[in-house]
Amino acid sequence: MARYTGPSCRLCRRENMELFLKGERCYTDKCAIKRRNYPPGQHGQGRSKVSDYGVQLREKQKVRRIYGILEKQFRAYFEKADRMKGVTGENLLSLLERRLDNIVYRAGFATSRTEARQLVRHGHFSLNGRKVNIPSIQVKVGDVLELREKSRKVASINESLEGVVRRGVPQWLELDKDAYKGMVKSLPVREDITMPIQEQLIVELYSK
Ligand code: SF4
Repeated sequence: MARYTGPSCRLCRRENMELFLKGERCYTDKCAIKRRNYPPGQHGQGRSKVSDYGVQLREKQKVRRIYGILEKQFRAYFEKADRMKGVTGENLLSLLERRLDNIVYRAGFATSRTEARQLVRHGHFSLNGRKVNIPSIQVKVGDVLELREKSRKVASINESLEGVVRRGVPQWLELDKDAYKGMVKSLPVREDITMPIQEQLIVELYSK
């Protein structure tokens, strides 16, 4: 599948905020946003006026980049969210949060969603006792994620779990660090998503 392979920090600079795409580096002074807080490119420091469409587009791109989703799949999430009961924008964020790779990241097994996705793809986890390798699986309440026995010595995963105290685990998940297990206690609601996202702008963009 096609994917973005350029510099991650460039994406943060384009969206003018920390998207936390590079794990531990994002929490240090090496973070590019802290050093060069302006959009990348020749005209990065010259752009100023942005249309309504531009604002909506940037918001959509920002969320897509946070979760590492390509346009086609993101659109499919939006259409699914639109068919669900409730507020479309909130449904969209909930669907994105419930992805398996996001759970691996949020529970603390990885320091970024990119790393989490790779761990899932490489078959390091089981879900409800069955080996899984599809990052887009939607988790449900009561699902149990477990690091497989053979993967418990992977240094990067153990280091990430050590750092989880600083990053924190959202209240809708439960982590048993010693047992290498995470459980979905409830479905994520809007208040659980703390990144500054204006999902209504995405709804407006796709509703044109
Ligand atoms: Fe973004 Fe992390 Fe790079 Fe900072 S270090 S610009 S948060 S990817």
